[in-house]
This record gives sequence, C-alpha cells and structure tokens, in this order.
Amino acid sequence: METCNDPNCPIHGSLKTRGRSFSGTVIESKAQKTATVEWQRTYYLSKYERSEKRRSKLKAHNPECLNAKKGEIVKISECRPLSKTKHFVILEKVGKDIAFMEREELIEESKVKAKPAKSEQTEEQKQWNQSKQEL
Ligand SMILES: [Zn+2]
Repeated sequence: METCNDPNCPIHGSLKTRGRSFSGTVIESKAQKTATVEWQRTYYLSKYERSEKRRSKLKAHNPECLNAKKGEIVKISECRPLSKTKHFVILEKVGKDIAFMEREELIEESKVKAKPAKSEQTEEQKQWNQSKQEL
C-alpha cells in the first residue's frame, strides 16, 4: 500500500469515518484532493406506486494515495466536515464505470459532430432565403 502525508486520509491520516456510506462514480476530479461522486438511487413515488431513478451527487475528499480519477467507482463514507461542502471521504477504489466512460465518449463525439451540423443549417437557411428572394 502506498503511503501519503495527507492528514485527512482515512488510511494514513487521523480522519475517522462515521455515518452513511455509499459507492458511486467519480464524475469530476479537477479540484485538488476533491472529487465529485455521483450515484443512482431509486426514489419511490407512493402516489403512482412505482419507483423512479434519481441521482445523488456530492463532493468527497480524494486522498493523495488514492487519487481517484473521473470514471472510477469509489466507496465513500461520511466523516467530520472537511470544508464547507465536503463531509465525505473516499475510502477505496472499486473499479471502473465503463458505462460512464462510454457515455462521456459519446458526449465528446456529439460535441465534435455538432459543429459542422450548425454550418449545414445556416447553409440551408441561406438557400431558403435565396429561394424566397427569387420568388
Ligand atoms: Zn493515504
């Protein structure tokens, strides 16, 4: 196991965990030692007698030794508040969220494709405007 000097590391530091724990996918890890973790939960609607998928998202401390990256599945646990918005810490990496990575790739692809599509539209509009003028 790697060591680290992070005092807020649940393994090498003195941070104690307590309370709720979840596992979710890291969707953002740009900020230093902070990761945004998202997971799905089912929300039961008694009125319609069925449940619906909802997403929960929160910020968790990303210890130096774990350094979880976007798309990785992690276990998080509640701890004392580390900052205004952080009161969860990543305990371990569980694996990779392949579905999430594929979705991200699709989003990236659609961004690339969206650009030429726009110019096509304006080209169509030009032709449309021209044909109107001709009439
Ligand atoms: Zn550590």
